[in-house]
Amino acid sequence: MSAQLRVTLLHHTPDPERAVAVAGRLCYAPVSAAELAHEMSDEDVAKLVRVLVRSGHHSALEHASFTLAVDGVSRACTHQLVRHRLASYNQQSQRYVNFGAADSFVVPPSIAADPEAEKVFLAAMEHARAAYDTLVEIGLGEGRGKESVQEDARFVLPNAAETKIVVTMNARELRHFFRVRCCNRAQWEIRDLAWTMRGMVREIAPVLFEGTGPNCLYGSCQEGKMTCGRPYKAEDVDGVGAAR
Ligand SMILES: Cc1cc2nc3c(=O)[nH]c(=O)nc-3n(C[C@H](O)[C@H](O)[C@H](O)COP(=O)(O)OP(=O)(O)OC[C@H]3O[C@@H](n4cnc5c(N)ncnc54)[C@H](O)[C@@H]3O)c2cc1C
Repeated sequence: MSAQLRVTLLHHTPDPERAVAVAGRLCYAPVSAAELAHEMSDEDVAKLVRVLVRSGHHSALEHASFTLAVDGVSRACTHQLVRHRLASYNQQSQRYVNFGAADSFVVPPSIAADPEAEKVFLAAMEHARAAYDTLVEIGLGEGRGKESVQEDARFVLPNAAETKIVVTMNARELRHFFRVRCCNRAQWEIRDLAWTMRGMVREIAPVLFEGTGPNCLYGSCQEGKMTCGRPYKAEDVDGVGAAR
């Protein structure tokens, strides 16, 4: 059985849109942010968040952050995720955690859909798992601890190896992440992750994440010759922005 993507929103800034609006409003106010936090109505908050986004005053968006637990993804996916530098990460260690459990590989849908390809893939995974188990059993040198052995045995594990990661991004970085990773040009697994994350944070802060997603959703693909030629349309996306 293939590992399946699971995303959980663990924490977020309380009232993230207010946090952003108060920070943005402070720039033009004679009073303190503490006072603004109480004075601003919900309408003021929504209006100002839209102004900040539209005007490019995006530093204020950094005051709202979101922490998500991401399970059931491949190492290929997390390698791409951690290229996003304006974020914080902690990932399950292949040194301390033995790679033995079931569902420990992600099978790409294109491979799962083709019985012959799936057979080849699963045989390769089984071979890798068996090699890993054997190397751990052999011990790889006298007196080496379990962690030290696992840290070398993991070299036989493939990109498909399942992993777990926790990621914290602020709203500014999330908006950027959704722009590049919800795009059809992004690899399918990180694209699924990005659409899922987008849906979750839009539930919490719909105004803050208005206008997010690939450029084509708003009319302009910027991929030039590399365009997928299949622009997203508003009807491809449900009320909170998860891809159908
Ligand atoms: C479709 C696609 C294909 C890709 N293919 C490849 C590939 O073949 N090879 C490859 O190596 N990578 C590839 N990448 C990864 C890509 O190059 C970026 O590393 C990744 O998308 C992280 O995004 P980022 O650099 O824009 O911004 P983040 O790290 O998310 O940072 C956000 C923004 O902050 C600013 N910023 C961050 N750090 C700096 C800095 N040091 N200096 C100045 N400004 C900064 C930039 O404006 C940046 O856009 C691909 C990404 C996509 C979406």
